[in-house]
Formats: sequence, C-alpha cells, structure tokens
Amino acid sequence: MAEQRKIPRVALPPGTRLDTLAVREGLPPSAWGENSEALFLTSSFVQPDAATAAARFANEEEAFVYSRFTNPTVTMFERRLAALEGTEACIATSSGMSAILLLGMGLLKAGDHVVCSQSVFGATMMLFGREFAKFGVETSFVSQTDAEGWRGAVKPNTRLLFAESPTNPLTEVCDIRALSAIARDAGAWLAVDNCFCSPALQRPVEYGADLVIHSGTKYLDGQGRVIAGAICASEALVNEKFVPVMRSAGMSLSPFNAWVVLKGLETLSIRMKAQGERALAIARWLEAQPGVERVYYPGLASHPQHQLAMVQQSGGGGAVVTFVVACKQGGAPAARKNAFHVIDSTRILSITANLGDTKTTITHPASTSHGRLSEEQRQAAGIVQGMIRVAVGLDDVEDIQADLLRGLATL
Ligand SMILES: *Cc1c(COP(=O)(O)O)cnc(C)c1O
Repeated sequence: MAEQRKIPRVALPPGTRLDTLAVREGLPPSAWGENSEALFLTSSFVQPDAATAAARFANEEEAFVYSRFTNPTVTMFERRLAALEGTEACIATSSGMSAILLLGMGLLKAGDHVVCSQSVFGATMMLFGREFAKFGVETSFVSQTDAEGWRGAVKPNTRLLFAESPTNPLTEVCDIRALSAIARDAGAWLAVDNCFCSPALQRPVEYGADLVIHSGTKYLDGQGRVIAGAICASEALVNEKFVPVMRSAGMSLSPFNAWVVLKGLETLSIRMKAQGERALAIARWLEAQPGVERVYYPGLASHPQHQLAMVQQSGGGGAVVTFVVACKQGGAPAARKNAFHVIDSTRILSITANLGDTKTTITHPASTSHGRLSEEQRQAAGIVQGMIRVAVGLDDVEDIQADLLRGLATL
C-alpha cells in the first residue's frame, strides 16, 4: 500500500512548550489564513472524485469525510488536548459520560472484569455497576485510596482499572503510579478520569496511566457553556479500539462544542492557577470557622493524601473544596437542614451541581450528584447529609467568604 496521506499539523518547532501548544496546536489555517481557529459547521466533506472517496472511506487515506467521525474543528481540539496530556492521540466525545461509554465499548466484552474506585462520579458508578453489567461486564468497587484493596480485587479476567483523582466531592487522591503497577501485573489497562485537575495540574500518563478520561464540560471549557468529553491514549488504542466504535455508534462531539472547548484550552493553565489559589484561601478560612466540622481539600496539610497530591498534582490542590457543616444533635435530617440553610443563605454563589466554571458553584452532593445512589452506596462513598461542595471560580475570595458566612454564622 502506498504511504497513507496524513492530515497536516500546524507548523511548530520541535520542543514547543505546553503553554504555547495550548494556544496553537491543531491544524494549519485554511486557505484564508485565519488567526483564530475556524469553526467547520458541516456534516460532510466533498470528495474530489469517486476513487479518492473510496480510498478515504476505506481509511487508506486520512482526510475529512463525515462529521460523525472526522471534522477539522474536532480534530483541532483532539490534537491540542492530546498535546497537553502528553498522549499520542485523543478522541473527542459528546460528553464526559459518553467518553466512559466509549471506553467500555472499545475495551470490554462479556465475561470481562473491571476494578473501579467506589468514589467515582455518580453516573460513572451507574454505568459500570448497572449498564455495563447488562452486557456481562462485572465490576468490583474498591476503596479509592487503598492500593492493596485494588490488587486484591484483581481477577484473571480483569481488563480495566478505573480511577478518578481527586474524587468528587471528597477530593480523595489515589496513587496513580501504584495503580499502574497493579494494572501492569494484571495485564489490564489503567484509565484515570482527570476531570478535577485537568492537564494543567496532573498528567496521569506520566505516572503510568494508559488512558485519560475527560469531561470537557468542566475545566477544559471552564466557562460552563457546553457538554463535551474525550479519551486521551496511544494512537494504537484510539485507532484500533475507539475510532471503529465511534464510526458505528456516533457519540461524537459536535463541531460547535469542540470549538468552544478548544478556545477554553487556551486559558486553562491560568484559570487553574487562579482558581486553585482562591480555593486554597477558602479552604484555609473554612477550617477556622466554628460552623464547620471538617474540610476536604488536597492543598490542606490536614488532607490524608496531601503529600501525594502535592507531587502528583504539580503542587496544586485544584479548585473544589468540600466541607461538612457542624451539627450538634438531630442526626442526618438536622445535618441536611443545616447544609440547606448555608446553601440557601448565599446571594452570589450559583446553586448548581456543575463545577469547573468561572462562577463559583455550591451544591449538596447527597441530594444532587449522588442522589441516585442508595444510602449504602452513599455511606460507602462517605457522602454525608451535612456535606457541601464549593467549586471555586474567579469570584473575589472575600465575596465568597461573606456569602458562605451568612449561613454559617446563623446555624
Ligand atoms: C461531570 C463529570 C463527568 C461526566 O461528564 P459530563 O460531561 O457531564 O458527561 C465524569 N467524571 C467526572 C469526575 C465529572 O465531574
């Protein structure tokens, strides 16, 4: 076969650094020479002749064909995110959850076994525990932070280890290097959901992960505008395992959403830095409040995996701070009432379960993001009724403190 014709890359010198790649990696500009990346809102691409069309449909020549699996704006986003994560390739999906669906469809078959953290995102638990189970894939859920528990759960048919770090909302940090050693010994892949840190703070492949999962909805867009997702991995995994499923199943990212997230990547590292600094200030302040029983934030010395997080997350704690309101008596119902009081006393913060926005958001995990779990699953995941999660944005720190204090001071 003749050398496969490739879609060209934007011309950048070898060794171009991450901050530059974040604003430039992708495709060369079109014939018009636009400086800001074009948005290609087209479902299909015109082919020069029938023979070329045949070669392109047969994958003998790399070119744009049909936007279910090839679109220049989506390719630009994929290349830029892959560059930031340090992987050879990336495949973009319509949402973070469809990235995990694609992961399962691409890597697993009936009879396979998965080991998954019991503290992963609620919908991820449902996907592994219920939906994949329908197709004969069994999942064991283990403690996020107990590496020996992961090793003990491995079976001869284990094909995939799945972790998220830090987790939502408890910010539990797993040792990615330790999990990658367990995966290697088991002949399984390790996938890490890197939603909370983004590649600006943490690149899981540097610690041995095989696949990185993203909800582009969160920090990658960073401004709460679109739903998007992606899997970053080697070219072999993307081309052999995921592209064929994408072609048949079509959980594709729309060009418009790809364009929005692509432009979000340009400010990712400065947003993560600014939001992380604000989050650390809020976390320290919360620790000193009498109305607060406990604060969960990897940047605090009191966090159980603080040391590990400071290394694995390039010294940053991220921007999600979770705390438990004090409740002297009355058990879970009273704790829930206190949490609702603090949330409802805010005037600036957005009451929404989304995170990764420039606008600071506040939510009650037990009744929203983790509301579909059974009480037992919630207990196992450590989600108590008095818990509040704040995803710190770019609001002024003193305004956020005043907003939280209104309810905390009147408990
Ligand atoms: C939001 C989220 C997801 C799901 O992403 P969507 O884009 O909402 O589908 C997956 N994992 C984590 C950690 C998340 O926070």
